[in-house]
Amino acid sequence: MSAPVPSSGWKNLPKALASRLAKLGIFREEDLLLHLPLRYEDETRLWTIGAAPAGTAVQIEAVVLSSEVALRPRRQLVARIADETGELTLRFLNFYPSQHKQLAQGARVRVFGEIRMGFFGAEMVHPRVKSLHGGEALPEAMTPVYPVTAGLAQSALRKLIAKAFERVRIEEALPEALRRALRLPGVERSLRALHMPQPGMAIAALEDHSHPAWRRIKFEELLVQQISLREAYAQRRARQAAPLPGSGELTGALLASLPFALTSAQRRAVDEIARDLVLPHPMQRLLQGDVGSGKTIVAALAMLQAAECGWQAALMAPTEILAEQHFHKLEAWFAPLGIRVAWLSGSQKKKQRAQALAMLASGEARLAVGTHALIEDPVAFPRLALAVVDEQHRFGVRQRLALREKREGDDSPLPHMLMMSATPIPRTLAMSFYADLDVSVLDELPPGRTPIVTKLVADARRAEVIGRVRDACVEGRQAYWVCPLIEESESLQLQTAVETHERLSEELAELKVGLVHGRLKADEKASVMAAFVRNEVQVLVATTVIEVGVDVPNASLMIIEHAERFGLAQLHQLRGRVGRGAAASSCILLYSQPLSQNGRARLRVIYENTDGFAIAREDLRLRGPGEMVGARQSGVPLLRYADLEADADLVEPAREAAEELLARHRDAVEVLLQRWVGGRGEYLKA
Ligand code: ADP
Ligand code: MG
Repeated sequence: MSAPVPSSGWKNLPKALASRLAKLGIFREEDLLLHLPLRYEDETRLWTIGAAPAGTAVQIEAVVLSSEVALRPRRQLVARIADETGELTLRFLNFYPSQHKQLAQGARVRVFGEIRMGFFGAEMVHPRVKSLHGGEALPEAMTPVYPVTAGLAQSALRKLIAKAFERVRIEEALPEALRRALRLPGVERSLRALHMPQPGMAIAALEDHSHPAWRRIKFEELLVQQISLREAYAQRRARQAAPLPGSGELTGALLASLPFALTSAQRRAVDEIARDLVLPHPMQRLLQGDVGSGKTIVAALAMLQAAECGWQAALMAPTEILAEQHFHKLEAWFAPLGIRVAWLSGSQKKKQRAQALAMLASGEARLAVGTHALIEDPVAFPRLALAVVDEQHRFGVRQRLALREKREGDDSPLPHMLMMSATPIPRTLAMSFYADLDVSVLDELPPGRTPIVTKLVADARRAEVIGRVRDACVEGRQAYWVCPLIEESESLQLQTAVETHERLSEELAELKVGLVHGRLKADEKASVMAAFVRNEVQVLVATTVIEVGVDVPNASLMIIEHAERFGLAQLHQLRGRVGRGAAASSCILLYSQPLSQNGRARLRVIYENTDGFAIAREDLRLRGPGEMVGARQSGVPLLRYADLEADADLVEPAREAAEELLARHRDAVEVLLQRWVGGRGEYLKA
């Protein structure tokens, strides 16, 4: 983020004030206009003491009968005021001497606050008090209440905003026809309505953001998001990448060697990617497919297309276990084709690392697989043309881009990017947060999988569950046993895993029980996983390290302890570890009573749904979009006002409007970008 430039005419702002405003995201005078109220207070009307309702904020005009500083039960300022209909007590637990003075006997005041019935009758605690000297008119508009920050008073902010309305020109950016079609009011009218609604306006609709004025502003925000994403997309399309017109020799050979045929969804994704890769500008594609839909082979084929053209490709995965699985799988696929794969991980021995680096530097290895270690110095890919990132949401945007920067020199072509994710993104979310990506979807699982049966079991029936594990393993199957997530303490989580492993080893003495957790050294982890893959270990006790990507088709039983503590996406991912072979699989969710309302809701969703998209939609509903996209990481600005759930119907029109404005109304685009992002000097970098 570059330093914000104060706009002309607003230079004389005191430094302290400027920095407080900056905390609210206000850097220019025009930013004040988009700093919208949280709610409103009605100071446009007066109540008499006798008629004023309790429990809601009211304004009263009265004369001070008395005021004194009481010392018991604690120091406080207590005043009595009266009008012709009754008397009222004002109580201040903290106060300034000036307030005491303001409430001198006989003074006329206007007080604003909520009346409560106290022990000594009706009273207002900490009302706002205004002294009257005669002839003070009531305000004509409702009083807005803004988000503020320490050292910045509501009243000061209100004045600044009122002044901004006088000085800033608010330009209409939406074409008349569009506004009429969507029934959106003009921007200036909307902003005025939001900042200073007239009495009689639908205040409830303003406060719950359903008012047309709010719709207008939220639409503009969604529109600006669409425009920014599209511009980022266009900028990227203008850059150079190595075109990769593969010969089909290696990809053909790999396909011929597979024991299965691609699903039609896989074929479609492979085609979409292959077509992107022959273009001379960088692909930026998201391959989305539910757990087990077969994304790895799609990535492998793309990597081979790069290799066929004499370029390099890299695959990065978020965990060591997953990266290692990919490495073994790709090596098994590629070795018969004479393609070397370099392996890079944080924990590998110096010598191995040096060897891998040398292979990459010389170009002897055309492909590399690894963890974050891939993006560290001094890893160099002289001819990197394709970067694949698995479980992309696990990485920050900077890490994803770092892989791209591994090419040689700044002016060599940019690598193509393929990002993969098993976390399905609901449509509105995809349209807004991922609008700058092309998306391929694997909406079909490979054939021959039997659906996973999900069971909810109270943990009092643990012994029964252990019996099921035994039965499955005796039949030659394998099981995962996932230990509870203990968010507040990693060491406690570890301890639980170790204890569970001990207990299960005793209870299932005839079986071999393995243990993996995050604290194991990489080679220890790898050897346990390898033993599990070979069925030398039948039951794998694990912390959530196995959450992503682990693929052992013979495992048909998944037990998750304290399932109520896990998030929906996590449960779906974990459950997806089974049901990968032909055997009937089950997932047993052990829960302990009492269940929280939210825990119960989540278990119900996972029990009732197997479709990742349906689960993601529920997840969006339960958690909101910010967490789902890891937006703080993704680099995409979060929406301030629009709500993808409540305003879902605006997303599609915003997308269409963005297209139209970019094509035909560049001036309007400028106005919008100025208004919404100009002040932050922040532009989208995808
Ligand atoms: P994910 O999309 O979760 O990464 P994987 O790529 O790990 O899925 O694939 C899951 C399993 O399905 C692997 O064992 C893989 O070899 C197998 N697989 C992939 N595609 C097919 C297919 N078309 N037919 C049968 N099995 C497949
Ligand atoms: Mg995978």
